[in-house]
Parts: sequence; C-alpha cells; structure tokens
Amino acid sequence: MAGETPDSIFTKIIKGEIPCHKVFENEHVLAFLDITPLSVGHTLVVPKRLVERFEDLPTDEAAELARQLGPLARRIVAAVGAEGYNILLNTGKVAGQEVPHVHFHIIPRHAGDGLGYRWKAAPAEQDALAELAKKVNSQA
Ligand code: 5GP
Repeated sequence: MAGETPDSIFTKIIKGEIPCHKVFENEHVLAFLDITPLSVGHTLVVPKRLVERFEDLPTDEAAELARQLGPLARRIVAAVGAEGYNILLNTGKVAGQEVPHVHFHIIPRHAGDGLGYRWKAAPAEQDALAELAKKVNSQA
C-alpha cells in the first residue's frame, strides 16, 4: 500500500516469510542465528517492531530487548563452549549497520579466535571531556 514502510528482511523473518533458526521469541523480541556468523553461535536479537535506530524504539521495548541479552548469552555460551562474548549494536551505515532494523549481535568468543576491533583509542584532555559532557548534558 502507498505510504507503508517496506518490510525489512528481519520483518520477513519475524512474519515467518523467510526461515530462520530461532533461539528465543516472546511478544516483543525474536532471536535467531546469524546466516553469516563471525563465530559459531553468532546470534541476532531483534525487536519485533520495525525501527531502524535503537534510540527510536519505545523505551519499554528497548528494555525488553536488553532484558533478554544476558539470559540468551548464557545459553549460547553454554551451547558452543565459548569463554566470553561481545554484544554489538551497529547503528547507521557509518557504524556498519547493513540491515535497517535494530539488532543486537551476540558473538561468542574463544581465546585466539582472531576476532577483534581495530579502534584507535587515545587519551583525552580533561578540559575537553568536561566541555563535551556539558554539551551532551545540555541536549534535550
Ligand atoms: P549489521 O551489519 O546490519 O549490523 O548486521 C546484519 C547481520 O544480519 C549480518 O551479520 C548478516 O549476516 C545478518 N543477516 C542478513 N540477512 C540475514 C538473513 O536473511 N538471515 C539471517 N539469519 N541473518 C541475516
């Protein structure tokens, strides 16, 4: 219908139009195995509501999504025998988001698995941090 937002690939999965390997489902959340996993057990945790950016999700639904991450991570880690995991949320193309439907990645980690970030952290000036905190705090 004209004016409707087209379904994302994840909405199609939620509707059962595309198959997935489901590991959790409730009223607001679906979790399923990633089709191109970074490690065995790589899982996507998705709100059923089609929203592209996390900050646009109603806060109760965001809270429900977050509530499921720990219990899910515990089950995934136990199932694949991982030592740890990363939880990742890419927001915006610039941050690597390919599917425009909020999704947390749970990525099981093993010693020496070669996965990792190439982020260049550098110490910041205290004055610059204070100024920046003031700016963030002044945002609506
Ligand atoms: P992004 O880069 O947007 O944070 O991550 C998108 C993720 O969705 C990728 O890890 C990709 O493998 C996964 N993905 C894309 N299409 C499908 C699909 O049809 N089924 C499943 N299970 N995962 C998908």
